[in-house]
Amino acid sequence: MPALRAYMEATGRYTFYAGTEARTISGGAVVDDRGRRFDADLVLVCPGAAHGGLTRELVGDIPVRRVRLQMMQTAPLGESLTTAIADGDSFRYYPGFAGPELNRLNGEESQAFTAAQHKMQLLCVQRLHGGLTIGDTHEYDEPFAFDVDEAPYEHLTSVAEELLGRKLPPVVRRWAGVYSQSIDPGTIVTRARAADNVWVITGPGGRGMTLGPALGEETADLLHL
Ligand SMILES: Cc1cc2nc3c(=O)[nH]c(=O)nc-3n(C[C@H](O)[C@H](O)[C@H](O)COP(=O)(O)OP(=O)(O)OC[C@H]3O[C@@H](n4cnc5c(N)ncnc54)[C@H](O)[C@@H]3O)c2cc1C
Repeated sequence: MPALRAYMEATGRYTFYAGTEARTISGGAVVDDRGRRFDADLVLVCPGAAHGGLTRELVGDIPVRRVRLQMMQTAPLGESLTTAIADGDSFRYYPGFAGPELNRLNGEESQAFTAAQHKMQLLCVQRLHGGLTIGDTHEYDEPFAFDVDEAPYEHLTSVAEELLGRKLPPVVRRWAGVYSQSIDPGTIVTRARAADNVWVITGPGGRGMTLGPALGEETADLLHL
């Protein structure tokens, strides 16, 4: 994000206001929580998982849900991992894999108890610093827990160690995050119109970082920008 902002700021046509909350949007003006007013021809509100507050005021309830994930990161592995790794459970969660094979997997191959309980898959990728980022769980029922649960971490560690054929380095970070996911079938992101020149756009789910540039381009095309 800092690199993208620096690139855009260099054009002289972009300003980033950190640490501020948009509170009202009306008549083509956004007012923030310091009372600053930003006049605009077009307002695109991308609130992420903040489905209440301003988002609800603008568009009411839209077809999105919040999803909470647990992940972790290890110390450097000490060797190069030449590919990203996923386990068989990842087939269970993505519509792209739907078909007779997946039905068979779901019907015949029972998932490990902890993996089923936390709707888990193993995703593992090496970072530039050599550590591994490893996930994840999926929690859909709110209110979400405030703490992170140890059982999924133990499951991820044992699956990763089995696939890598070696012990994992120590875990140095654990975290949980929440994203917004569109629940409209066939929709990759939810775009809801609040007024002639105001749109709320959210719900890319667990692929928003990957899809972000394409979603931005598609949004610009849809708005004939
Ligand atoms: C643990 C975890 C792992 C993930 N892994 C991946 C992955 O591997 N690949 C991938 O592609 N995606 C991944 N994602 C999903 C990805 O992070 C999201 O899809 C993406 O961040 C969504 O982008 P966004 O800009 O719509 O929302 P966000 O990134 O959530 O940004 C919205 C921002 O708007 C701010 N905001 C809300 N309301 C206001 C307001 N009124 N005024 C001012 N600011 C406001 C919020 O504070 C937030 O900073 C992951 C998500 C999580 C939580």
